[in-house]
Amino acid sequence: LADGALYQSKRSGRDTLSCAAYETRQERSFRRQLSSELPKAIEKGAIVPFFQPQVNALTGRIVGAEALVRWKHPRFGILKPGRFLDIAATLGLSAQLDRAVLRQTLRLADRLPKMGLSLDSIAVNTSAGRLIRHDLLSDIRQWWLNRDCQLSIELLETLHFDDMHESSPVTEQLRQLRDLGVRIEIDDFGSGRASLTGLLRVRPDRIKIDRNLIQAAARDPMQQSVVAAIFDMARALGLQAMAEGVETAEDVAVIRKLGCEVFQGFYYARPLPEEAFCRLLAEGLKTKMADPEGLPRQS
Ligand code: C2E
Ligand code: MG
Ligand code: MG
Ligand code: MG
Repeated sequence: LADGALYQSKRSGRDTLSCAAYETRQERSFRRQLSSELPKAIEKGAIVPFFQPQVNALTGRIVGAEALVRWKHPRFGILKPGRFLDIAATLGLSAQLDRAVLRQTLRLADRLPKMGLSLDSIAVNTSAGRLIRHDLLSDIRQWWLNRDCQLSIELLETLHFDDMHESSPVTEQLRQLRDLGVRIEIDDFGSGRASLTGLLRVRPDRIKIDRNLIQAAARDPMQQSVVAAIFDMARALGLQAMAEGVETAEDVAVIRKLGCEVFQGFYYARPLPEEAFCRLLAEGLKTKMADPEGLPRQS
């Protein structure tokens, strides 16, 4: 649709200007509406995590999941975070939003063993300016004791580490999180939002290699060397590395050869509502297990 609109706009110059102005007005009033509705939505439980599987390509087993926030809007349907995260930040509601996601994620971790299901880890994302609020630490402390499944926190370097030093709040929080057994992951590694500096400061348990880098590597041999070097570096530092945003069997095949085992991306599954995620976990991804050469089978 967006491409179609662009094509139209290239063709029909002047009309499009007024059309674009109209869209901007629409967009502004839409945002205003979302702003006024978000606080209630959080209270009413309309802010929910979807869960996207993380898959070991060798076994086809779902080994983990990332919680990705969605707004179940009564009229607009399922809204993605790109629509409302910045609104939440403007309203000072980021922490409440993260807490809603964290609580529901912890609840899922609680349900899994009761359904005979298991995951190695579940990850949540964090907002700008803070890793996680103090009251969330106590949530984690209460809920996460004696879980088989580990909690991971995904960080974006640009959001968290601008003034990180020995005694900064972020450093202290990282220490507390680690003490609770929480794993630290750097999100979007290799994009402008996460760099080698972040890696050395944080010493994460895992890096998630950015979708754009992965997509580029799937197409371009030069970029493949870069991604291969990142996997080598991760091994040398004793960290895990995984690939984000694989969309096709070919993507997986190329990145597998560069040394990657764990993948997250539309090829395996989109982010799913909790119930659908549990069903998929129970059924497994048998059709997408790798064959002996490590190439994913086409289903
Ligand atoms: P992220 O943490 O890097 O999450 C991955 C994003 O890539 C998700 O978008 C996911 O749906 C999308 N994705 C996964 N696989 C593929 C693929 O194969 N192809 C393509 N094209 N996209 C793929 P989503 O859910 O829209 O989230 C966008 C960003 O919003 C996230 O990026 C994360 O930074 C932020 N976010 C999501 N949930 C939360 C949350 O609960 N709290 C906070 N603070 N931020 C969140
Ligand atoms: Mg993430
Ligand atoms: Mg990411
Ligand atoms: Mg991203």
